[in-house]
Formats: sequence, C-alpha cells, structure tokens
Amino acid sequence: MILGAMELHLLSDGPFWLDGGAMFGVIPKPLWEKQIQPDARNRIHLTMNCLLIRSGKECILIEAGAGDKLDPKRNDIFGLSGPPRLLDQMVRLGVRPDDVTMVLNTHLHFDHCGWNTRVSRGHFVPTFPNARYLVQRGELDWARHPSERDRGSYFPENFEPIDAAGKWSLLDGDAEISPGIRVFRVPGHNRDMQCVRIDAAGRTIFLPVDLCPTHYHIPVHWVMSYDLYPLQTMENKKKWLAEAARGNWLCVLCHDAETPAGYIREREGKYTLEPSPFT
Ligand SMILES: [Zn+2]
Repeated sequence: MILGAMELHLLSDGPFWLDGGAMFGVIPKPLWEKQIQPDARNRIHLTMNCLLIRSGKECILIEAGAGDKLDPKRNDIFGLSGPPRLLDQMVRLGVRPDDVTMVLNTHLHFDHCGWNTRVSRGHFVPTFPNARYLVQRGELDWARHPSERDRGSYFPENFEPIDAAGKWSLLDGDAEISPGIRVFRVPGHNRDMQCVRIDAAGRTIFLPVDLCPTHYHIPVHWVMSYDLYPLQTMENKKKWLAEAARGNWLCVLCHDAETPAGYIREREGKYTLEPSPFT
C-alpha cells in the first residue's frame, strides 16, 4: 500500500495457536465454538501480523512476532511449526535486518517482540542492529517485574539484550514516533500496551493490537482472559471502535488469521468488521 510518501506492507510471523477458553474469557465455549472451531487440544488458529513501513529514510517495523528462539516445548504448545516467516517476508521485499531504523513494540509479550533479538554465537543480540527500539517505559518496567498471572508471557531474552545494547527509546504515554505515525497508551490487556495509528494521504490505518486481536473480539464483552484489566479493555474498545467506525479507519487485527484487515462498521450500536484487502 502506498500512502503519500509512505509504503506499507502487511506481513505475518506465521501461524500461532492459543487456548480458545483463554482467548474468549467469560464467553462460554458453546458460544465461541460456533464462531471458531478449536483443535483437539482446545486451541484456536491465530497469526501474528506485523507492519513494515518505509517512509523517507526510515524503515519501521511495527510488531515483531514470536521470533525463532522458543524451545521445542513452547513451539509445540503454541503450534509454531515451520520456519518463522517475518524475516523471510522482509527479505522478499528487499529489506535486510540492517536496513530497519525503528522497531515499535506495542508491548513485550513474547508473541509481539520475538524478533527483537536472535542468537548469534551463543549470545542474544538485537536482530536489527541499526534500529532504535520503542516501547512504553512502564511496559519495560512491568516486563521486568511481572505478576504471577502474566509472567509466562514475558521472556527476558526478548528485551534485556536491547537494554544491554543501549537500543531502547522509551516512551511516556502518547507520542508521534515518526511523521504521521502515532502511538496511544491504551490500558486493558495490560497497563501500558500501545495502539498505533497511521495518518497519511487522507487515510487512517489503525492497529488496536490486543484490545481487539481478532474480529471475534469486536463485541465489547468478548475479552481475553489474558487481560489484566478487562473492564478497561471494554471501555477502551467502545471508545476506539467508535472512532474507527466514524473515521473509516482500515484496522489491522494483530492475531486474526482469516481477516487480518478491515473496516469497523456500526449498526444500531453494534460493531462488525467488513473485511478488506490491505490496499
Ligand atoms: Zn498478543
């Protein structure tokens, strides 16, 4: 997609499977399995969508998938079979890791920042050596001291090597990180997740991230049980989905394997996704 001086590509780090019950919180299984069938291990098929933006001299990666550092047990639990595809897809676009100037982590759960680092000669090193890495300061603090409830989502090898290399640019709340690319701190999934909005050439692209990870999560109370603050998720979903519908924003859903992009439509107070190609 070309928007003014920006070139945007929707990429994916490949398939990813999570427990259906955990993905739908208090929604009973007889309801959610009418929407999406789980596998024999009660997992549903998801993906890890990422965005690559070239704009002037900047080459910006938004979201960084799960990477290639998970051990065989975790690969099995999360169904990460086959080679992860984010770097392959970037290479196909002619983008090498050295070319990336900025990596935006929406938050530091392992399925959003895995490619931050890779293993080189037995050490964890930044995958993108010339990039600044951006995250909310509060999210990095939390990742270092998670609760018993969410520590299984944070793997230090994804963020400590960035610190050791002095590559963090920490954010304190909403910010314009590059002309036309803004982040908004949106609590709910956790305290300091950030959503991303891109405004260029009269259009708006929006990443609600885990506020609304798939189109199944558009109804306000379809909230993941991973969320630390589900009532805030619901409040923020009402606010941001209303804005997305009003502004005709093209939304990219970070974990939706079937309809990664689409427009939010409102009808009699209810929201739905009208799927759209990323164009
Ligand atoms: Zn996620």
